[in-house]
Amino acid sequence: MKLYCNIEVNNRVSSTNIIRRKSQRSILAIGRHTVKGNDLYFLWQTLQNKQGIKYKIDNNIDKIFSKFINQGKATIRLIEPPHDLIIQADTIQLKSFMRILKLGMSKQMDASVLAISNLNPVRMASVPKIKVVVNKSSEYPILEGFPRTTEELYLVGLDRKSFDRQILRLQSLRILNLSNNRISSLPKELGSLQHLQELNLSQNCLDKAVKWVWLDQPAIKNNLKLLDISDNMLTMIPKEIGKLHAIVNFKASKNVLSYLPQSLGSLPNLKYLDVSKNKLKYLPGSMRNLRLILLDVCENKFDGENVNFVTDIDVLKLVECAGKSILKARLSYDASTIPLTLVKYLDAAKYCVCGNPCFDSYRRKFVEFLLTTIANSVKSSGHITVPFDCYFCSSNCVRIFARVKY
Ligand SMILES: [Zn+2]
Repeated sequence: MKLYCNIEVNNRVSSTNIIRRKSQRSILAIGRHTVKGNDLYFLWQTLQNKQGIKYKIDNNIDKIFSKFINQGKATIRLIEPPHDLIIQADTIQLKSFMRILKLGMSKQMDASVLAISNLNPVRMASVPKIKVVVNKSSEYPILEGFPRTTEELYLVGLDRKSFDRQILRLQSLRILNLSNNRISSLPKELGSLQHLQELNLSQNCLDKAVKWVWLDQPAIKNNLKLLDISDNMLTMIPKEIGKLHAIVNFKASKNVLSYLPQSLGSLPNLKYLDVSKNKLKYLPGSMRNLRLILLDVCENKFDGENVNFVTDIDVLKLVECAGKSILKARLSYDASTIPLTLVKYLDAAKYCVCGNPCFDSYRRKFVEFLLTTIANSVKSSGHITVPFDCYFCSSNCVRIFARVKY
């Protein structure tokens, strides 16, 4: 049995702490070493090492970590050499590979059924296609579809009006670029692609009609690192964006945004934010919690708004106390675990400048802050400070943040 996968090797014993080798496109085979012997071995081949490395299986596997096998991830811990093979593959193929491995280890399977030729290196050129680029509409594989092994799919500038549901079958997809089309809606299942890390939807027609329910699916929340929704005539960014816990790079320039959602400040991994060329009047106060590497807010108005806010800090209701605890602990929730009204209540959280969520009891005020307090590098068309729409969860936070100009 041969498994086409990505493997990262972690050398547990090394004088310079743990050495990790970058994930490499690989073939992992399982088979007998000799015609007569029944000893099982792995053969691990990469493009760099076409002859491959053999690893003994019998009495040499310390542990198999398969908790995330439904996301196509598993780790095999070998005793000698002290290597962890961190495998990422198509979920179904990985499951059958692991099943054979476990049968082989427990001697429940006659090793002779595994062809010895399995351990002969195969030509890496026969690795299935993982990158698909369609440059012209005439080349679009309407009937034959995309290879199931596709990891990178580029469908740029093809004037497509709808999202092709064939894409949803590509369970190994890591990069999806659909920029410069005329797509106006996205299916919920887009959020279920297990390995999707980069999604480019720039230069499309995602306006008010688009539904953002795909952002609420567990796979996308935990894996997506780059999202580009630039140049879509968007008037708002949905608050669900705050659920993309893995996101590092978010681009929403060239839209018609006048404000950003408060939930933006609760993205723990966000490092690059481009919201240039919009109509932003102010930034959400929650962004004070971000430590960005690069913030681009060029060509925005930042003229604030003249509003008197009426809410004030009050004794907390029980539901607000519970809500704060759930969000602070980053517990996952959805309508299958708690009533929908509570889901909506939690989703509507505001975030104090101190980082704490608040719901009904808060003071709200526009405060001018230096942009350099949230990013190492700032592009701002000359703005040094801009108004932030701040929520304060306690009178302590008002005292610390609201009266001092940073
Ligand atoms: Zn606070």
